[in-house]
Amino acid sequence: KNLVVAIDGYSSCGKSTLAKALAKKLGFIYVDSGAMYRAVTLYFLRNKIDVNDDAKVTDALQHIELNFHSRDYESHITLNGDEVSDEIRLMPVSENVSEVSAHKIVRHEMVKQQQRMGKSKNIVMDGRDIGTTVFPNAPLKFFMTADPKIRAERRFKELESKGNNEVSLEDVFENLAHRDFADTTRKESPLVRAEDAIILDNTNLTQDEQLAFAIEKVSP
Ligand code: C5P
Repeated sequence: KNLVVAIDGYSSCGKSTLAKALAKKLGFIYVDSGAMYRAVTLYFLRNKIDVNDDAKVTDALQHIELNFHSRDYESHITLNGDEVSDEIRLMPVSENVSEVSAHKIVRHEMVKQQQRMGKSKNIVMDGRDIGTTVFPNAPLKFFMTADPKIRAERRFKELESKGNNEVSLEDVFENLAHRDFADTTRKESPLVRAEDAIILDNTNLTQDEQLAFAIEKVSP
């Protein structure tokens, strides 16, 4: 039987960094569920889809094909064959993704696709509702948190290193605060810790320490 490791938590908590490292260590496939919501958001922006129009949203989802392909455990996503991994990290998408991901029809479709991915393969999936909604029976779940200031600094540095100099640290902080609020208060599967999820606060942990902590839980 295949295994699923679920990693949930707030925005920019280092979920994907840990998920990638863990997948590599275990020989599992890493799936970034947030990238799926981001790619849908990008499609909606490009095609001017009004999220308040359910018929348009339903129709649009039928015209979206998302695919992951991985190189060295770096996750890449394509939107209708188009590589969008970098574009989905930029501010226009970050500023609109909360609204799109709160949509019931969008979530329903993404959860269906995510569950399909976990059916046949060993995966590590990160997101907001993986341990609660997508894979409530996952044998191993982590819930990650970190100090909001540290999270904003990490994300800011990441954007900077990609040559994105237009946004300030303050903009990034505001965006994270906004997304945390939207994710925890939305009606459809809000961000909440699954009862059986192990809390991992990485404010003061290095990446190696986090990986060691997680590995310990896999095979105590
Ligand atoms: O993980 P990342 O920050 O890239 O996710 C972008 C946004 O997608 C989150 O702010 C959240 O609104 C949404 N999301 C979600 N459920 C998931 C993964 C992401 O609602 N499983």
